[in-house]
Order: sequence, then structure tokens, then C-alpha cells
Amino acid sequence: MNLTQAWLGRDDSALIKVGEHHQLLPDVGGAFLAMQQQARADGQDMQIVSSYRNFDRQLSIWNRKWRGELPLYNHQGEQLDAASLSDEEKVYAILIWSALPGGSRHHWGTDLDVFDKASVDACGGQFDLVDAEYRQGGPCFALAQWMDDHLADFGFSRPFLQDNGGVATELWHLTHRSSAAAFEAQRNQQALYDCLNSANMEGKATVLAMLDELFTRFVLNQGVHSL
Ligand SMILES: [Zn+2]
Repeated sequence: MNLTQAWLGRDDSALIKVGEHHQLLPDVGGAFLAMQQQARADGQDMQIVSSYRNFDRQLSIWNRKWRGELPLYNHQGEQLDAASLSDEEKVYAILIWSALPGGSRHHWGTDLDVFDKASVDACGGQFDLVDAEYRQGGPCFALAQWMDDHLADFGFSRPFLQDNGGVATELWHLTHRSSAAAFEAQRNQQALYDCLNSANMEGKATVLAMLDELFTRFVLNQGVHSL
């Protein structure tokens, strides 16, 4: 694996399949399966919603949101009217819930989103991966509480636990800490600039002009305190 490419979602050679539809690094997949087994013993049906995602997939999400083909939401989860936003406002609106292509932790094979499938199914199957589903009264609340107590036992933590003006709170997003450290250390604004500059990306000129702020606030997720 070439880390200078892998942190940008452009090298998946080290990944293994986990279940039918997911890919993770071997250590992460092993730790996840052990955690899933313990969760099951404790009555939680912990399943993966999303795991590894490459650069092109993240770029496609970005472009569809920019064009208004996928919905945009504010911090409260209320839908925004993309046509009424300036280009800069659109960038912020996308980045609350979706990472820049090349700037997603899902590029690394170390991070994944989880839910309680049995509980969601028992509630009729409707699932949108939103905050309320992981709060009191939601189908994934018990799993969220279970994770408070057990994630660390398997080497996982939640990088988006607190909304500090960067990425919104994501109680479902887990990272395998020791595996993610090398990717975190590799993050580099100039490399991301060069990567985006050569991509077929909507809103590229706006993003590149804003990249100083976007890199710190959203990619490093230091939020607005550091500005
Ligand atoms: Zn995620």
C-alpha cells in the first residue's frame, strides 16, 4: 500500500472483504468482527452501513450534491434549497454531512458507519442514518449506549462525537484508532489541492480558493475554534 495515495482514497490494495459488500484493512476487519460478536451476545445487531469508499465514489457524491441531485441538510438535519445558496454556502452545506473527495476518513479502510439492523427492521425498516435514530426513542439508541461502554475495548472510537463547527455529530461513525493514526499523519493540504485540481469536480475553483479553511475545519475536523 502506498500511503501517499491511500489517504486520498486511491489505493485499496491492502483491503480485505468484510461480509458481501464491505472492505476494511485486515486489523480493522478483525477487530470489528470481534466487537460485532460481543455486541450480539449483548443483544445488539451491529451491522455495517458504510465502510471503505474510494476517491471516485466520494467525488460522485460531491458532484451530485452540488448539482442538486442529492439533498443538502443543515446542522439540524433540515433540508436546504440548493438553488438558493451561493457557491460558498453550497460548499459548507455539503461538508456538514459529506467529506471532500480525498478528505474522507472512509478512504482509509479504518473507519465505518454502523447501525442496529434488527432493531431498525423491527421498527418497520425505515432508516436514514440521522442523529435522531441514535438518540432516546430511536432504533439505534441502545446500540449507541452499548458503544459508549465497549468501543474502546476493541480499539475503536468516534471521531465525530462532538460538533465543533466542522463535521456534524455522527454517533454511527467509528474509527479504529491505531490503524487510522498513520493516515491522519499523512494528511497534507498541498497533496489534496493537487488531487482535487486534477479531478473532474463541480465547484472546483470555489473549493480550491477556500481550501486553507476547509482543510483545517473539515478535513482535520478542528472546527471553528482554530480559525
Ligand atoms: Zn461515516
